[in-house]
Amino acid sequence: MQPRVLWVVEDNDQNFELAEFLLVERGHRVVRARDAEELRRLLALGAAPDLVLLDMHLPGASGLQLLAELRAHPAFARVPVVALTAHALRGDRERFLAEGCDGYLSKPIEIRSFVDDVERLLPGAAGGSP
Ligand code: MN
Repeated sequence: MQPRVLWVVEDNDQNFELAEFLLVERGHRVVRARDAEELRRLLALGAAPDLVLLDMHLPGASGLQLLAELRAHPAFARVPVVALTAHALRGDRERFLAEGCDGYLSKPIEIRSFVDDVERLLPGAAGGSP
């Protein structure tokens, strides 16, 4: 797969560093936002990434609030957003997909499958968003 630019919106350093390590190892570029304010700063720049990994539990705003803010920007309306949550509760996946996320990955990150799971959700991937 061609290298892509991914935003990883994650306040937990360990989770971020593992995601970054695995994605960079496969040639992708990672931009981090640690909280709602940092994500809003990236949105204000107006340059969309290929995909956003969005921790649904961040300081400053709920993940669903941030998803709505992202979708409200014309430049970001079609960017795939993958919900990341440690709360692998029954129904979480369905709830986040129903709210407009394009995919869902639970934490802790599964080292062997994480990048494959993310790449499947990239635009142009087989079975991913068009
Ligand atoms: Mn978090």
